[in-house]
Amino acid sequence: MTNRIGILGGTFDPIHIGHLVMASYAIDALDLDSVWFMPAQSPPHKTQEITATEHRVEMCRRAVALDSRFVFSDLDLGKSGPSYTAELLERIHRLLPEAELVFLLGADSLKGLPNWRQPEKIIALAQIGCAERPGTTVDEQVRSTVPGLAERLLEFDSPLIELSSTEIRTRRANSLSITYLVPESVEDYIVENGLYRPGS
Ligand code: ATP
Repeated sequence: MTNRIGILGGTFDPIHIGHLVMASYAIDALDLDSVWFMPAQSPPHKTQEITATEHRVEMCRRAVALDSRFVFSDLDLGKSGPSYTAELLERIHRLLPEAELVFLLGADSLKGLPNWRQPEKIIALAQIGCAERPGTTVDEQVRSTVPGLAERLLEFDSPLIELSSTEIRTRRANSLSITYLVPESVEDYIVENGLYRPGS
């Protein structure tokens, strides 16, 4: 049977329940065997300072350990320069040529796909799994911007949680609680290491 792998790339600074819920719904809706969580060394579109890789990796590992369908992968780490999705997918494809890859993202991120490096290569290497709030669909303009995207796009319903890593960093910086927004083991790690506090 073909192995269907969902790929969720991100900064994961920190990983939060929005990522985890989306990945879990993707597995059920898109008939995936697993979702690989792949923290990026240095995402091309992020301008803010990013927390040290070792911390982002450990938080990701702790969150992923909670679900046997989730896999942590360091394939997008350890190299210099920006992490481009097309190159990452190529590396995964070389490693697992038989696997069907589904690159997962939120509807907001999909809007940016036309501006990513080599979008045609991305959709040649992977289907695109796009999380949508129930009852909504991807707007026609995005669908038609990248040639071939419509045929490779898999939309799925997910209770999109209005939560971002930025919100968690901001709450910590303002001494507000992040309980329930990240798994308990991730919150413990954040507190133990004094992450996201002013001056940390
Ligand atoms: P930041 O606030 O630092 O920009 P983020 O919360 O958007 O971070 P990323 O690590 O950049 O997190 O996101 C990785 C992937 O997860 C992206 O494809 C993004 O669309 C998706 N994602 C982020 N937050 C959510 C959420 N609340 N629900 C569903 N998907 C999400």
